[in-house]
Order: sequence, then C-alpha cells, then structure tokens
Amino acid sequence: MEQIISKETILQLEQLALQARLQKARVPISGYGVGAALLGQDGRIFTAGNIECYGQTPSICAERVALFKALSEGCDQFTALAVCGGPLGEPLRGYCTPCGTCRQVLTQFCPSDMPVICTQAPGDHKLYHLCELLPFGWSRD
Ligand SMILES: [Zn+2]
Repeated sequence: MEQIISKETILQLEQLALQARLQKARVPISGYGVGAALLGQDGRIFTAGNIECYGQTPSICAERVALFKALSEGCDQFTALAVCGGPLGEPLRGYCTPCGTCRQVLTQFCPSDMPVICTQAPGDHKLYHLCELLPFGWSRD
C-alpha cells in the first residue's frame, strides 16, 4: 500500500510550501520561517506557516497549522506533505524536517507511508515516508 505521488504533484506541493513560508510564517521571535503544504485525498491542499507567540509555549509549527486547518474543514484523509524552513530573508540551505511533536501528530492522522517532501527549492528535496521519520509512533492503525 505504498503511496504513489506524481512528480507534478511533488513540484506543486513544493512550490506551495515555499510560498507559504514567505507569505504565512509569523515568526517575530526566531525569524525562522517554515512553510507546509498538505494534500488531502479529496484534492484540496492546505498551506500554512509557523506562528510564534510571545512566551513560545503557544507557538505552533506550520505542519500542525496545515493539518488542523484541514481537519477543521472536514478533510481527514491525507496523501502527501511538503515542508521547508530556514531563516527568513536568506536562501534556504538544507532540508527542514518536521519536529518530534509534529511527527507524532501527523502519525495520528495520516497514513504511515505518507510521503513527506522536505524541500529547499522546487525539484530539490528529500523524500521520506512518515514512518521513517517516526518509527513506532502512535497511529490510528
Ligand atoms: Zn513541528
């Protein structure tokens, strides 16, 4: 039951994640902007940036904002996620992966073999399956 995803879809998700990082990240504390694009099985794509709050504890990652947007809009089956991150105002260097908390939350709501596309430019990414990022995570399976 390997998730199949086309090159065109990967490219589209990469572009939307990169755009979301620049347009949606609200990071007054760290300046580290993250963008995410989550593809639902129904074809909808939910994009988000990370949001920092003073005191840090209530801050939230782009991946979870995208996931919670989707869930709250009635989308609860997912096909792929693209993510990117780095200091705003600088070119991206390296492949940002979801943090531990996001890996667990994604594992709860997404298929364990869902592709996670960690991108630094369109067509330039590392692709993992969710279960590679969090082996033995708590899932609905
Ligand atoms: Zn996170």
